[in-house]
Amino acid sequence: MKKIAILTSGGDSQGMNTAVRAVAKTAMSKGMEVFGIKRGYKGMLEDQIFQMSALDVSGIADHGGTILLSARLSSFKDPEVRAKAAENLKKRGIEGLVVIGGDGSFHGAHYLYEEHGIKTIGIPGTIDNDIAGTDYTIGYDTALNIILDAISKLKDTATSHERTYLIEVMGRNCGDLALYAAIAGGASGVMIPEVKASTDDIAKVIRERRAEGKLYDIIVVAEGAGNILDIEKELAQKIDTDIRVTILGHVQRGGAPTANDRILATKLGVKAVELLIDGEAGLMVGMESGKVTTHKLSYAWENYSKSSEEDYKIATMLSL
Ligand code: ADP
Repeated sequence: MKKIAILTSGGDSQGMNTAVRAVAKTAMSKGMEVFGIKRGYKGMLEDQIFQMSALDVSGIADHGGTILLSARLSSFKDPEVRAKAAENLKKRGIEGLVVIGGDGSFHGAHYLYEEHGIKTIGIPGTIDNDIAGTDYTIGYDTALNIILDAISKLKDTATSHERTYLIEVMGRNCGDLALYAAIAGGASGVMIPEVKASTDDIAKVIRERRAEGKLYDIIVVAEGAGNILDIEKELAQKIDTDIRVTILGHVQRGGAPTANDRILATKLGVKAVELLIDGEAGLMVGMESGKVTTHKLSYAWENYSKSSEEDYKIATMLSL
């Protein structure tokens, strides 16, 4: 394989640049020509493809965001659109494509391989940690640390004013960010999409905490666990403390990637290129029990990545 391309797609995450760098440098070191595709599948369709030099990826390992930019293109579900986009790779003689993104992006990569023989490899990049076939996705660790930093700041002001804070964090289907932020941040409660927790349970814990003389409560709520303003309203009818809502939002996706995310992104990026050199395709790379592993791209959406029930019990047990 002489020419490969890289794109980043879907929601961005910290460490995507680190992965782009690892893929590009590894491929260049093996004598390949490397092309960057801007704006994901949209740029692929619109022919926003350029040859990358070593300089393009120099000094980016610690930068959040993605130098290749990201975009969404819902029409990529249409086979005719994919055919047009694939043509832009073929006309340049590009045989391999590394896609860094979530399971939506992996769907696109899967079809490009099945329908057009483009040798695709997926690298899981999303802060949500919602992809099966890897213990951690690139960006998750950084986002988790941002949430922990926010929790510790909110604890200070919550204590001064003796308030109950509801903090909304990302995670539509997977509650890992909320669950592990609750465990690591010593939260008084957690609500995740995988478990139907009632505000009665949360209210009971808050009442018990206050009876013991505790001055604040931090409840971490995953966005997929329900509308936080409705949760606030329900809770307000059950407890006497002053409640405030903080929605962390996109701040969770920014900033320099942690050491863990950089190492993960680098190892997965190197493996992606090695697989292409070995003639493999239609695969995703992941890190499982400390080892780099591969699965079919479809593994990502055929197997649901959900939060650990055991760890949920730990979080609730320690909430008092
Ligand atoms: P993520 O990759 O983070 O899950 P999205 O679900 O938005 O993010 O997917 C990113 C892009 O991948 C979409 O904008 C679209 O171009 C492409 N994509 C998503 N789902 C499919 C699908 N079923 N078939 C083909 N392409 C898809």
